[in-house]
Amino acid sequence: MSARQYPWDLREVPWSDRPEFTRGLLDGTPLLSWGIGPRDKLATRRQLRAMGLRPGGQDPAAVLYFRCRKAGKKVYAELFLIERAKPVRPMTPGRAAALDKAMTARRTCRQCGETGWAELPRAHRTCEACRYSLGLPPDDYLHDYLSGTPTLTADEHAALDAVPDNVIPLRRPSAVDGSWTSRKGVA
Ligand SMILES: [Zn+2]
Repeated sequence: MSARQYPWDLREVPWSDRPEFTRGLLDGTPLLSWGIGPRDKLATRRQLRAMGLRPGGQDPAAVLYFRCRKAGKKVYAELFLIERAKPVRPMTPGRAAALDKAMTARRTCRQCGETGWAELPRAHRTCEACRYSLGLPPDDYLHDYLSGTPTLTADEHAALDAVPDNVIPLRRPSAVDGSWTSRKGVA
C-alpha cells in the first residue's frame, strides 16, 4: 500500500491564529483538500470577483486541490484572503476604450489587417487565408482541409474580385419590366 500523496499536516496558516490541518505545502503555499478551507476567509479569484473584490496584488494564501470529474484530472486553485482583497476598480470610459482596443487587436490579422469575429492564435495573429498564402508549416491543421497547391497568386485572386471596366454589373431583374432577356441590349 502506497503512502498518501498529500498527508495531513498541522501547521501555522495566515487565515487563523491557531495551527490548522492542511495537506502540506505546495511550492511554499499551504495546500488544502476539498472542504477543509474556511469559506468565509478564503476565496478564489472568481469568488472574489463575484463579491466585487480583487486580490489586489496579494500572493495566494493557500492552494486548493480537488479532482474535477468533468476535466478528468486534479485541479489546483489559488485561494486568497478575503480580508486583504480590494474592491474592483470601477469601469471608466478610458478603460473601456482601452479594453475594447485590446480585444479588437486579438481579432485583427497582422498580415492583411482584417478584423474578424474570432480571436486569432496568439502565436502569430494571422488569419487562415494569409497563413495559406504565406505557406503553411508542415504540421498545420489547415492541411486537413486543403489539398493541392494554389493555382493563383494573391494578386491574381485580388484581380478576380475587382470588376473590370468593360463589364456591365449585373442587376436584379425587377418584377416590373420582366425577364433577364429584356435587359440584354442595355449598354
Ligand atoms: Zn489576414
